Amino acid sequence: MAMSPSKPIDKTRGKLPPTLRIGRSGLHGYGVFARDFIPEGEKIIEYVGERVTKTESWRREDLRLARLKRGGDSCVYVFEVNKRYDIDGRVSWNPARRINHSCAPNCEGLDYSGRIWIVALRDLAPDEELTYDYGFDVDDWREHPCRCGAKACCGYIVKRSLRWRVRRVLAAESAAKKKK
Ligand SMILES: [Zn+2]
Repeated sequence: MAMSPSKPIDKTRGKLPPTLRIGRSGLHGYGVFARDFIPEGEKIIEYVGERVTKTESWRREDLRLARLKRGGDSCVYVFEVNKRYDIDGRVSWNPARRINHSCAPNCEGLDYSGRIWIVALRDLAPDEELTYDYGFDVDDWREHPCRCGAKACCGYIVKRSLRWRVRRVLAAESAAKKKK
């Protein structure tokens, strides 16, 4: 069940600021780019969407997997806020949903009292694409291949602290192949 918000959702909150533009990405589909210099630590754009309970979030994940099976849009737009709530950013009024994942990101999503802001981890140059680490768990890693090209990349979108597990599985698989 979606949370019934006490106030109507303000759909202008996540609006693209003049410092950003959306464009074709070398990473995946469309991405969000800096128009101008953005300093480290800047709160760049809010990641908005529907605030949902975990149960609702899991239900939506099942729907997403069903879409994936049918070959439809299977991107993940759920942002984990805490143990109880997520933000489902699959809404047209959330341009931050276009920000791609990178294993060596230049931004991060930070929780400011339950609201998620995309914040610059370092200075961004004009025309640089914004990225953050989606921080996916290791459970369904094969479903989320990564082509970010970073040194820290294990070939899949998995949070940094768990990438060693993916590397270990991949190494075992390639060793098994060589034996054949
Ligand atoms: Zn990567």
